[in-house]
Amino acid sequence: MNSGHKYLRSLLRRKSLDAVLVWNLENIRYLCGFTGSEGVLIYTEEEKIFLSDSRYEEQARDEVRGAVFRKFKKKIEGIAQSLRSLGVKRLGFEASALSWESYQALKEYLPRVNLVPLLGQITLLRARKEPEEVEKIRRAIAIASEAFQDTLPRLKPRVREKTVGDFLEFRMKRRGGESSSFPIIVASGVRAALPHGKASAKGIEKGEMVIIDFGARHEGYHSDETKTVVLGKPESRQRKVYDLVLKAQERAIRAVRPGESVRRIDNAAREVITRAGYGKFFGHGTGHGIGLAVHEAPTISPRGSGVVEEGMVFSIEPGVYIPGWGGIRLEDLVLVTDRGCEVLTYLSKELKDNIL
Ligand code: ZN
Ligand code: ZN
Repeated sequence: MNSGHKYLRSLLRRKSLDAVLVWNLENIRYLCGFTGSEGVLIYTEEEKIFLSDSRYEEQARDEVRGAVFRKFKKKIEGIAQSLRSLGVKRLGFEASALSWESYQALKEYLPRVNLVPLLGQITLLRARKEPEEVEKIRRAIAIASEAFQDTLPRLKPRVREKTVGDFLEFRMKRRGGESSSFPIIVASGVRAALPHGKASAKGIEKGEMVIIDFGARHEGYHSDETKTVVLGKPESRQRKVYDLVLKAQERAIRAVRPGESVRRIDNAAREVITRAGYGKFFGHGTGHGIGLAVHEAPTISPRGSGVVEEGMVFSIEPGVYIPGWGGIRLEDLVLVTDRGCEVLTYLSKELKDNIL
């Protein structure tokens, strides 16, 4: 049983809820082990009911732990029946997961049930990782890193970005990964100014910098890492901006400790880049939590809220993107420890180790 159960029980009490309707599939997997793509979990202090349709009956009986299985023909009708049988009067639901359509249908079936939207509170459910979860993330990192090393010899002038991305993905699967965490980003030369430049048909040229953002999935858990490599001897501006991003990343990593606010961690990186006059070229947040989802709590950004806690795993990924010139991003994953953090990703981000 993971700490999510304790978290949810205290949420039930704090909000005086009789039950929480867990709709998000990652939350369902986290709480009862179901890995399929259709189902809901009704969560009360005493009882947990997992509902799905007949396609998933066998899988549910096989995977689900700590909840009874019930089959539905019509989803909302099935949920309503179970909620009535439990006598639920105040029901919490994940505001960001339930569609407006499902919400309306639920209201119609259960006119006397008070539906309580859960916003920020529920997003923290999976934020603190159990040691077993950290191990899965470590394994995902190892798979991705080994696959990246396999791919390095293929990073040559005239090779297309997409060829590099495809090979990297293939190697991740070969090394035991379930899949790539997300469509791999390979953005070279001026395309590196696009923070999310998916691998394209563009050929990589000598002298260009290439942002490669990649991750593997292992037993449902993801890794996420970004390297920026340069093909040939870097020129002075490339050196300067690279060192700046590296320094920003190091500052943010050094700022991570239990109780530190997400905004201050973000600002530790942002300040370095802003002071050097590149602030307007760093348009995204510094990091995001990762686990069963590639992007989850906490959000390390100027718009984030709260503090980081021991056991959280998130990325630190500052970048500088200059239109018409290119870009540099460096991304590592950190685990918050009792006093600071451990950097889980291990491929070197020093420029000298990233010159091909
Ligand atoms: Zn990434
Ligand atoms: Zn990321």
